[in-house]
Amino acid sequence: MSPRRVLIVGGGLVGLSCAYELVTRGVTVTLVDPAPALGATRAAAGMLGAVSETHFGETDHAPLLLSAAAAWPAFAAAIVAASGIDIAFHASGTLLCGVTQSDRVEMDRLAALHLNLGLETREVNRSELRTIEPSLSARITRAHLVSSDHQVDGRATAAALQAIVRRLGACFVPQSVISIAPQPSGVTVTDNVGHTYEVDHVVVAAGSKVNSIEGLNRDLVPKVRPVKGEILRLFDPQRSLRHVIRAMVAGRSVYLVPRPNGEVVLGATSFENSDDETVRAVAVFELLSDARSVFPGLDELSFMEASAGLRPARDSGNPFIARDGDRITVLGGHNRNGILLSPITAAVAAGLILEGAHPQADLFEVLT
Ligand SMILES: Cc1cc2nc3c(=O)[nH]c(=O)nc-3n(C[C@H](O)[C@H](O)[C@H](O)COP(=O)(O)OP(=O)(O)OC[C@H]3O[C@@H](n4cnc5c(N)ncnc54)[C@H](O)[C@@H]3O)c2cc1C
Repeated sequence: MSPRRVLIVGGGLVGLSCAYELVTRGVTVTLVDPAPALGATRAAAGMLGAVSETHFGETDHAPLLLSAAAAWPAFAAAIVAASGIDIAFHASGTLLCGVTQSDRVEMDRLAALHLNLGLETREVNRSELRTIEPSLSARITRAHLVSSDHQVDGRATAAALQAIVRRLGACFVPQSVISIAPQPSGVTVTDNVGHTYEVDHVVVAAGSKVNSIEGLNRDLVPKVRPVKGEILRLFDPQRSLRHVIRAMVAGRSVYLVPRPNGEVVLGATSFENSDDETVRAVAVFELLSDARSVFPGLDELSFMEASAGLRPARDSGNPFIARDGDRITVLGGHNRNGILLSPITAAVAAGLILEGAHPQADLFEVLT
């Protein structure tokens, strides 16, 4: 029988998107999270980089990433209409470029990979580049334009989803879930203040903390490790940049995401298995220094914020949907692309939970 009462552990973009899919289909949702939308979701740059996130050794993700990107326009339109909140879903396109000669060769190799896979990308020469993105450094002599890789404000999206699901009756509980125990007819969930919840189904969307919850089947739920990312936010009153810029600078990656409201998100570092969320001074220094060699106008921007988040990464790199019988669903491993993947993850998870199937389930690793 289709579950009527579902408890969601974790109110990042994955859990909130799931809450949205379920409440809009009449399910009674309780979402438990001590700090909704303040995990990796808060740090994220919001690049919807289906093509630019297809790297050597990770090409098997491409069909999922492309389908995830295709789901975004309708998802964005629906939640903007329902919430009245502007989530800055912006069809900016993305430019891939390199500063040094070897960086350019590296980006050319990546673009050749995209072309070989049939993904949309086009080389832009120096003169066209000066026209379409005049603020880039003169050291950048060519780029690759991925017109279909867009962007969204993950924080605003989370705020919009919270507003919608609260209005539709979802109950938010500001506690941490400690354990989950399947019962003959339902599931018992216990939080950190000893409160218990009896529900029909539990969805775990706890990002990098998924393995810390007691009672999950350790043979079924893959290990998820935190990959720390430090990221900066600046303000550009001139709105100098028109595209998302993903660049290589002396072998290091840096990106700039210019939002329509003038915010520029500049990221990001990547540290394996680091679960502290402090921001190191050297990270700020390196990010600013690298970004400045891509976009010299950076010097005049106002500095707004430095923050860090933990990407929920899995060794295989693939996001997963683990189904422990018909009572527990665990969503995880979204790593660098959880904003891009949230709508499709939620749609597939809701289909599996409510109807036992979804036409796009094969794009995911569904573990049973
Ligand atoms: C610097 C940086 C930049 C990024 N940029 C992008 C990008 O441009 N595009 C993109 O697609 N992705 C990006 N990502 C990745 C993206 O942020 C993540 O993949 C995504 O946010 C994962 O969402 P989530 O809901 O699974 O996790 P989170 O957002 O981390 O949410 C998990 C939630 O679970 C809660 N929780 C944990 N344990 C418990 C518990 N026991 N009980 C109750 N609640 C619990 C936490 O409080 C948290 O709110 C970036 C990540 C970082 C760090």
